[in-house]
Amino acid sequence: MLDSIRARFLIWSFIVFSAFASGLGMFLYERQKVESLNTVDRFLRVKSRTLAGLIEVYKDGRIHHELIEGEEGFRRGKTVYDILESGHYFSVFFEDGRLLAASPSLGRFRLPLSIERVRLDGSYYETTTGPGGEPIRVFTEKTTITSPHGEKGYTFIIQTAESLEEVYGFLHSLRNTILYSLPLVIGLFIAGGVVILWTSLRPLRHFSAEVSKITRQSLNRRLREERVSRELRELAGTFNRTLDSIEKAFNIERRFISDASHELKTPVSVIKSYCEIYMRRQRPGEEYREALSVIYEHTKRMDSIIEKLLLLSRLEEGRLPMKMERLSLREVVEKALSLLRPSIEVKAMGVRVMADGECYVNADREYLVEVFVNIIDNAVKYSENGGEIGITIRRDGDQARVDVEDKGVGIPQDEVERIFQRFYRVETTGSGQRGTGLGLSIAKEIIEAHRGRIGVNSRLGAGSTFSVYLPLG
Ligand code: ADP
Repeated sequence: MLDSIRARFLIWSFIVFSAFASGLGMFLYERQKVESLNTVDRFLRVKSRTLAGLIEVYKDGRIHHELIEGEEGFRRGKTVYDILESGHYFSVFFEDGRLLAASPSLGRFRLPLSIERVRLDGSYYETTTGPGGEPIRVFTEKTTITSPHGEKGYTFIIQTAESLEEVYGFLHSLRNTILYSLPLVIGLFIAGGVVILWTSLRPLRHFSAEVSKITRQSLNRRLREERVSRELRELAGTFNRTLDSIEKAFNIERRFISDASHELKTPVSVIKSYCEIYMRRQRPGEEYREALSVIYEHTKRMDSIIEKLLLLSRLEEGRLPMKMERLSLREVVEKALSLLRPSIEVKAMGVRVMADGECYVNADREYLVEVFVNIIDNAVKYSENGGEIGITIRRDGDQARVDVEDKGVGIPQDEVERIFQRFYRVETTGSGQRGTGLGLSIAKEIIEAHRGRIGVNSRLGAGSTFSVYLPLG
């Protein structure tokens, strides 16, 4: 399941988005908490200033204040500071800790006070428990008040406090809202993701449906690149090119099977009809000998085709062990020529070998001789009697190069590339009767197994030059 793009996307987006949404929720909550406390703190500071403003010091040192009910400022009626445990408190002390006034809302309760701390810091905030057991925020500040002309002055410690119950209640409900809405938001996000993914994977499903229509029987079918979405166009192009080469290989394979059966069918038919004719009635011994020699010739041809096919298939599978050794190309060519001596003599061909110094390669002797036997044999086969064959051996860059040139029938331009295919024979050269069409494919496979290459240059009626390139040894 985890190897599906969809599952991976969903799992990853779930993890990432959950982490993101929870982080965001926590951040918002913390921010709000700090903001709310700041608001309370600001309020407490303002309240403290207001209280300080209600204290007067006369020049004879008397103190007048309007801090509690009964004094002038409060005559208008009860305030929140007069109601017991109302959540709004204050107290005012002299510097030495003697109480000047406290809000009636405190009752007998006293707000915690650290004279030491206020002396050091001037003011501080703290969160503690109020008279009703509720959480409260306390602001403690020291302030000096003097008589109008500075004759007398006192330092007071003013404390203002507010219940935090409301703030905590708000934060609590905020936290619950965040906690309850998180799964909903994550769920909505995932659902959105599924819909987007489903829609974006549609072209891929379409692509895969198109691909699945291509079968062995419809290998010529191609994906319409202009009809797939832009992101998949490159993939479709690559896929089409792969199909091109598969189709080509498939066709070659198909033609090969039909060619091979055809090649083998001819000698088998000949042998079969000879047998049928000669079994029909008694014939003189001489005739049997002639028939047997025809059968023998065709059997030999079949044998040679089968041998070559086996060799080719082993070469293609890379199953043939090669005995690599350092070889002189000149010696290899000479060996091939000596094997071909009878046919060269029959056609009275002239062969010239030109070697520009010694050229060595790392190769299997037998297979390399086979390569040149095939190429030189072709040069003999496809030349007029008494023709000339030129063989040049030289270095070409970091490669050894052997050119086999003849002045024979040549190869039509449009068929040059195909002569290396198995069983391919050029009809116009009239070669159909003699060769198997396998020699050059074998030569090519051997050369490629040696990390070399073979090329041909030919003009119809003027002759051909086969060039073999091999890494220098
Ligand atoms: P074959 O046994 O028919 O010679 P090859 O694979 O060796 O098979 O060659 C394939 C075909 O290439 C030949 O049938 C011939 O038509 C063409 N060919 C090869 N060599 C030459 C050449 N030197 N001159 C002209 N045609 C050639």
